[in-house]
Amino acid sequence: QPNETWEKVDHYIEQQLIPHDPDLERVLSANRMAALPPYDVSPSQGKLLQLLIQMKGAKRILEIGTLGAYSTIWMARALPADGRLVTLELDPHHAEIAQANLQLAGLAGKVELRVGDALAQLAELEAEGTQPFDFIFIDADKPNNPHYLKWALAFSQPGTVILGDNVIREGEILREDSADARVQGVRTFYELLAQEPRISATAIQTVGSKGYDGFMLGIVI
Ligand code: SAM
Repeated sequence: QPNETWEKVDHYIEQQLIPHDPDLERVLSANRMAALPPYDVSPSQGKLLQLLIQMKGAKRILEIGTLGAYSTIWMARALPADGRLVTLELDPHHAEIAQANLQLAGLAGKVELRVGDALAQLAELEAEGTQPFDFIFIDADKPNNPHYLKWALAFSQPGTVILGDNVIREGEILREDSADARVQGVRTFYELLAQEPRISATAIQTVGSKGYDGFMLGIVI
């Protein structure tokens, strides 16, 4: 659960560094009105995604787990004119809200939202002969993280950046006997990363308005 100081500090960071943005605020309120779960990244995390994409100069982005497209919009805004983002979402209701939000943000032309199970979508992308991505954001159902990591590698080239969200889970990832499939998915994700010579990675613990969690950041060698 978020603690009061963490929330206040996130609010302070937003006030200082993240200018008031009517489009993004409308997206968040549309998501709440449509009863989407509040699992969007925080504003400061969205800005971090955007900065990483700018630093990388990414032209092709893959996102696994769209929800209402809040993180999608932060990322797509960092793309150059000829850039493209493919985002995958299982839930048709989430996807419908996300598509409306992308229209509202003027990004529907740059973002391809594909509805259906991400594993099936990833196999389809492969069958379509999709080009490698420069930046891959893994943020869907955590039990499938090990599969998503394998797909991320399949769609990578040297220099591709892979970011996986929610890999700390209030420290629950330490519990090797956890009955929580999300914790086990994340633990296997770490094990695969540990054995994978093609990825150099770290994980960073974070606190803030979303509580105590963290993200994995890696680069394909
Ligand atoms: N990236 C979003 C953001 O920060 O605004 C949040 C994504 S939310 C944490 C996870 C999303 O993954 C949910 O919308 C959920 O419906 C979707 N999801 C869950 N299982 C999935 C699957 N098998 N394939 C595709 N999407 C899935």
